[in-house]
Amino acid sequence: MSASPKDSAGGDPEHPDVAEFRVRVPAPRRGVIALSCLECGTLALRDGATFCRRCGLAYGDGPRATAELPSCPNCYLTVDEDGRTASLERPGLRVDLGQHMREHDRHPVGDDDWLETLREGDRLRWGRWSAPFDTIRRYLVTGQIDAGRNRQLAHDLIVTAMTQLRRWGPEPVILGDQPEWRAARAAISELMERYAAGRR
Ligand SMILES: [Zn+2]
Ligand SMILES: [Zn+2]
Repeated sequence: MSASPKDSAGGDPEHPDVAEFRVRVPAPRRGVIALSCLECGTLALRDGATFCRRCGLAYGDGPRATAELPSCPNCYLTVDEDGRTASLERPGLRVDLGQHMREHDRHPVGDDDWLETLREGDRLRWGRWSAPFDTIRRYLVTGQIDAGRNRQLAHDLIVTAMTQLRRWGPEPVILGDQPEWRAARAAISELMERYAAGRR
């Protein structure tokens, strides 16, 4: 606690609200709410919570060596060994996962409002194309292709196109290139461009 609370709580009798406001909303409160577990990323539900309700680690303690570190569901980044990551907002600052995720409000990875308009269940549909939503979004954000457990994906035209783009860039010269591959690459490139327009 900083300055003596008595000074402000006494306040001006004509304006009791001002004094009350000062007492009720002390400055450090924001930092307390921002707490998230450095090992699993779980947010503290209330002020003054000491231990993570999910993994039992004390808030503020670094992750255990054996821990599987948490990732951001928005940009797929995994926190570093210290359970934190570089702030998107302020260079040099290290922030926990909760803070990182809030920073996305001002630093979106792409135009997700638009991408959601193409969603049909767990698929993404655009033009005559269709592919698993999560696979496409991860690719648009990270350039990585994660087929997950879906083995069929390996034979998907869209996945072929993503693999080619990833390996050879936007205008590849591919031996035995096929019109269907070209069309799929163009479809993916179009998505990438439109989605990236929302990145900040
Ligand atoms: Zn935890
Ligand atoms: Zn993120």
